[in-house]
Amino acid sequence: MALDKMTDLYLRTSDPYPLQSAAFNGLHEFYAHLREGRLTTTRCLGCGSVCWPPRRFCPECLTDKFDWVDLPKEGTIHAFSIQEAGAPQGFLAPLVFAVVKVEELRIFSLISCSEPKKIALGQRVRFTTLAVTNEPGGEKRMLHAFEPF
Ligand SMILES: [Zn+2]
Repeated sequence: MALDKMTDLYLRTSDPYPLQSAAFNGLHEFYAHLREGRLTTTRCLGCGSVCWPPRRFCPECLTDKFDWVDLPKEGTIHAFSIQEAGAPQGFLAPLVFAVVKVEELRIFSLISCSEPKKIALGQRVRFTTLAVTNEPGGEKRMLHAFEPF
């Protein structure tokens, strides 16, 4: 195996983020919406169920027909945890992970903030995005996140 191939293999196996392009991800529209500044999820065309995270099939009626709906950009911290060490590539500890209540959905998310010790249950947060490492082909990758306001 050539050295450049080993490097490619190493980078992919140590990359904690999903590949987001249409070639690698059946829910690539979700990531395209993030790049547009939109927080979206799937809505079942069979029964109308709105799920988080976005699904390729409905857990209620099992259809694979769905469309995309925009979610409100504000929510409330329902639960959270602070990671003090072992941050993934591209992030510095401490990191705040939270379950954010957005309407009836509970969205697991990173919280982007400069003062993690000030995060509290019930705190209002708004949607934002975090840029992470690019796709192997160079396309920009984004993650959803929330920030206090
Ligand atoms: Zn359904």
